[in-house]
Amino acid sequence: MDREELKKEMIKWRRHFHKNPESAFEEVNTSNYIANLLQEMGYKVTTGIGKTGLIADLKLGTSEKIIGLRADMDCIELDEKLETEYKSVNKNRMHACGHDGHMATLLGTAKILSKEKNFDGTVRLVFQPAEEPGKGAKEMVKDGLFTKYHVDEIYGLHNMPGLEEGKIYTKVGSIMGSEDDFVIKIHGKGSHASAPNMSIDPLVIAANIILALQTIVARNVSPTDTAVVSCTELHTDGIRNAIPSNVIIKGDTRSFSKDVQILLEKRMEELVKNICLAYGADYEFEYTHEFSPTVNHKEQTEVAIKAAENILGKENVVANCQPTMISEDFGYFLTKIPGCFVFLGGAKKDKEVIALHNSMYNYNEDILIKGAEFFAEIIRIRLKK
Ligand SMILES: [Zn+2]
Ligand SMILES: [Zn+2]
Repeated sequence: MDREELKKEMIKWRRHFHKNPESAFEEVNTSNYIANLLQEMGYKVTTGIGKTGLIADLKLGTSEKIIGLRADMDCIELDEKLETEYKSVNKNRMHACGHDGHMATLLGTAKILSKEKNFDGTVRLVFQPAEEPGKGAKEMVKDGLFTKYHVDEIYGLHNMPGLEEGKIYTKVGSIMGSEDDFVIKIHGKGSHASAPNMSIDPLVIAANIILALQTIVARNVSPTDTAVVSCTELHTDGIRNAIPSNVIIKGDTRSFSKDVQILLEKRMEELVKNICLAYGADYEFEYTHEFSPTVNHKEQTEVAIKAAENILGKENVVANCQPTMISEDFGYFLTKIPGCFVFLGGAKKDKEVIALHNSMYNYNEDILIKGAEFFAEIIRIRLKK
């Protein structure tokens, strides 16, 4: 099929999504738009998986094998500052993470595969809602993705504006971090600021805890592993001349493996519990797992590397890239079935890099077709006739 035509179509789709962004679990129009396009292409579409999520199948030949390709659909809650003819028309909604480009990419793949009809098995496209809050993947799995709607292996990509344009980066093992949130509540005893002997000062205890938490990475996590423990908020119910009764510390942690994730939670609670005990305060400790680490499977990563090399040339593939502590909902899928996640570089030479989640972010449309061809090549390899 005519690649120039397809490129134009993908740009049209991407700009449509960009102009009409919808955030987590609101992706109703986005989802309808995608469903209509895929039905026209001959895909069997099932909507309402994970609320606004959908899957779309194209089955050819006799093989029972099912390969999943995933795109995320939600925008972030931000007012767009960039002036273009396709600027967001929705207030406080913007595709600043490039999920508009991811959807157009996967639709491009859908089109290529439906025209070529050159594979044996089932392609199952997964359009996932609510990636940003880390909730969409879980909702889809809860609604039967991978069970009722079986998938043998799954692939996904994220655009990366800081990496070289048109190059694919991946690695076996951990490529993106976990994200956990914590809330530590310290209940002491308030008093007049002039009479600290009458108090159990939760602020002094909080200060001890904040410092002690930094020893987890330095002294409990193995030097060959990595982790981050960040306290990001500190609230008291005191006033300037009164020692508070209560203090709340909030923050988040990152790591690349389940084991480290468990260690962080365990050590944090031990420190909080024992420091509070030492000073005679009570505590509450909440620790929630928001994002799993994204850990690529070896066999599927080798497939992704091969596909990328076939499409982009060996010189444009980084097969053992640096991992990043950013989190991705795709990591949850990889705790259920094998697969691989890659980064697609979008940095234009001599042009300033605008980071993801910036109100001036604009997807590099020149990489759309490269992503689409990459996914299509995975199918050609994995569902070879
Ligand atoms: Zn994002
Ligand atoms: Zn994103």
